[in-house]
Amino acid sequence: MNVGSEFGFELQVCQWAEEYWPPERSRERPVIVARQLGTRHRRWDTLVIECDPAGLRQRAHFGSDRLDSDLLHVVRHAPAEWQWYRDALPHPGYPWQYVREAVHRAADRGLIDRRRSGNKIQLRRKYEYPDWIHRIIAIENKPDLDASAARNLLAQIERDVALGLADEVWIATEATDERIEPVLLEDVPVEAGILTIDRGDRGPAVANVRWQPRLLAPNDPGTRILDRPDGGGYDASACRFEYADPDWKAGKRRAIAERAYERGWRSYAESMRPDCRHFELEPTESVARPYCRAKCCAQTPNQCGSSCPEFEPEPPTWRQQGWPIEGGPGAGIKRLLAAQRDRKRPEPDR
Ligand code: SF4
Repeated sequence: MNVGSEFGFELQVCQWAEEYWPPERSRERPVIVARQLGTRHRRWDTLVIECDPAGLRQRAHFGSDRLDSDLLHVVRHAPAEWQWYRDALPHPGYPWQYVREAVHRAADRGLIDRRRSGNKIQLRRKYEYPDWIHRIIAIENKPDLDASAARNLLAQIERDVALGLADEVWIATEATDERIEPVLLEDVPVEAGILTIDRGDRGPAVANVRWQPRLLAPNDPGTRILDRPDGGGYDASACRFEYADPDWKAGKRRAIAERAYERGWRSYAESMRPDCRHFELEPTESVARPYCRAKCCAQTPNQCGSSCPEFEPEPPTWRQQGWPIEGGPGAGIKRLLAAQRDRKRPEPDR
């Protein structure tokens, strides 16, 4: 397996999910796909947000940047008529001064109307913040899933199931030519669905469902497992966990979906060097992954940075030819990826 193949695999899974999710069924709802998102304690490789179509168009009124939890508190509760912000918004559980700052930030971004009445700040909503998240699907990408990777996944999936933040958890692994896929012989958690991915060389991937996942319960209370004894003869410590209430879970799901909405899965180009002369990306409708001509492999963001010893800036003459869009190939690639991401975010209804 070449270096960077896990990263390339992840991009192919994202690309496949954007085109074909849900597997083996026709698409009823638009999806937003993102990578490397989650909570402070858990980050998933690929996230698929199944969206309510009308809600997604309504969400577009708030712009392409994410709304953090403070802004969400303001826009979700902003009243239809002018009101002092302390009367209009529920107590957030932290000092009001932070709410007032969030009100100003929301107004500066054009998300709400704001005015001063005497010494009081009043607000009024411009648009109703919609309930645009239908389901959240988390996918772990393990192209070469062996026994030890399966053991590690067992603990992670147990935590996911106990917390129930996502609606489903899947494992995506590389398809083999074996009569029985090896992943089915490993000790993989039964709650997780299993997808095997046939990787095209640099083209689109094809996925097959090998195991259906158990539906989790994001609207119910969850359990956050903080520490779990390994169960060995010398470990008599107790399992530590805490309760996760449904409101906390709903807030986390909104915050994760907002970050997915902003970033999509193509934001990797921001942390790489597409302005290097060795950087390649097939500028097609369905970009798969970057490729390095100098290293002869699908490079990772870690390899493809300013400290890369083989980095060479694209020659100035490339920037004068208006290819593929003026500014040179590197700038063009970034614009291309941003345009592809934007096409997945519909325009608001007028
Ligand atoms: S040579 Fe280095 S900086 Fe240039 S594309 Fe390859 S990995 Fe990236």
